[in-house]
Amino acid sequence: MAATPMIAAIRGTHDILPGDVEKWQYVERVARESCERYGYVEIRTPIIEREELFAKGTGESTDIVQKEMYAFTDKGGERVTLRPEATPSMVRAYIAHNLEHAMPAAKLYAMGPMFRYERPQKGRYRQFHQLDVEVFGMENPAVDAEVIDLAWTLVTQLGIAQAELVINSVGCPACRPVFQAALLAALGDNLGRLCGDCQRRSATNPLRIYDCKVPADQPIIDGLPHSVDYLCEPCATHFVGVKTHLDAIGIAWRQSHRLVRGLDYYVRTTFEVLGQALGAQNALLGGGRYDGLVKQLGGGDRAGIGFAAGLERLVLALPESAPVAPPAPAFVVAIGDEGRAAAWLLVRELRQAGLAAQMELEAKGVRAQMKRADRLATRVTLIVGGDELARGEVTLRDMATGEQRAIARESVVTAVRDLL
Ligand code: AMP
Repeated sequence: MAATPMIAAIRGTHDILPGDVEKWQYVERVARESCERYGYVEIRTPIIEREELFAKGTGESTDIVQKEMYAFTDKGGERVTLRPEATPSMVRAYIAHNLEHAMPAAKLYAMGPMFRYERPQKGRYRQFHQLDVEVFGMENPAVDAEVIDLAWTLVTQLGIAQAELVINSVGCPACRPVFQAALLAALGDNLGRLCGDCQRRSATNPLRIYDCKVPADQPIIDGLPHSVDYLCEPCATHFVGVKTHLDAIGIAWRQSHRLVRGLDYYVRTTFEVLGQALGAQNALLGGGRYDGLVKQLGGGDRAGIGFAAGLERLVLALPESAPVAPPAPAFVVAIGDEGRAAAWLLVRELRQAGLAAQMELEAKGVRAQMKRADRLATRVTLIVGGDELARGEVTLRDMATGEQRAIARESVVTAVRDLL
């Protein structure tokens, strides 16, 4: 008889199994602790939103909106989509709940899955996860520097070596049109020699020609003007301020005129942290300032800045030495039926006291139980039964030293806590 065919997971999605999930928990823990140390509070928004939120927020001209959204009509006839990024949702929530007034200078973070219909490869998936960090209502370049500091600190706290911070300024609605005009003028007749995507970008968002990866286009792109040479006075001063603050806290940066980022809402500062050993998908995180976005989505005239870090990429870039494993549990070995009954109570008592403890629930011999303790790499084994049980004692074995001693039943919790 043929076996029932298995139903495969959707391309570009992944199960995160025990053995890997500990790395995820570690990255999430460090991310959460870092954000909270910098004064950010968590916010959780739905993973499904109205399609127009991203058309308006992320931008009609972006690859995300044009090609990558998991958008569909729901049973009520509404156009909805799985979120491809977090920022528009954060802005929507900020406006909808009047946080503009409740938290005029809001520092928010969120973590969760995002969905983009991209071509899957190492470091690029269709369901992936981001840590998203946003600050609303603050314009000072010190804020840009603090956000970048948090991003950089997160990467270094995780022990990811050889990372590089890249920054740029893309100007504002006052100076960008001048730069765009200069860009198109410099392109001139060469525009026709660029790839189809670039030709399309030249009409919708010419800056994004700098995103092009097509090798044949590069000699032409290398000769184009740079946004930093066209900044208006306030944007130029802001950018100098950001760099001065970064220098003051000793965070090294490299300026790249090509860092325009794939989203439409950025103004002034853009930044990325690049990692080694990730191959083509080497951006660990990216972000920037988006001062016009809150207003554009129906809120007040509030500044905004943030970044998103790819959790898959942080997990991939973790060093071998990262302390990801949770402490091994205490293991309780039972001798005979009487021992099993007493062991069961002891395991529960340890757990109630906040300690990880396990025992073999199937009735098995002492040798089999000891083997299981070895497999768990347990630090401490407690042997319950026999004469010790009658005397109100338990045998405690320190698995690191092999030392074994009898201790009073009532001091077990303290003794285990001291060892773990
Ligand atoms: P973005 O939202 O495109 O600015 O991306 C921010 C970060 O999210 C990137 O630097 C990556 O670390 C991560 N990221 C973006 N797209 C993907 C994807 N398809 N798969 C995995 N990680 C991604």
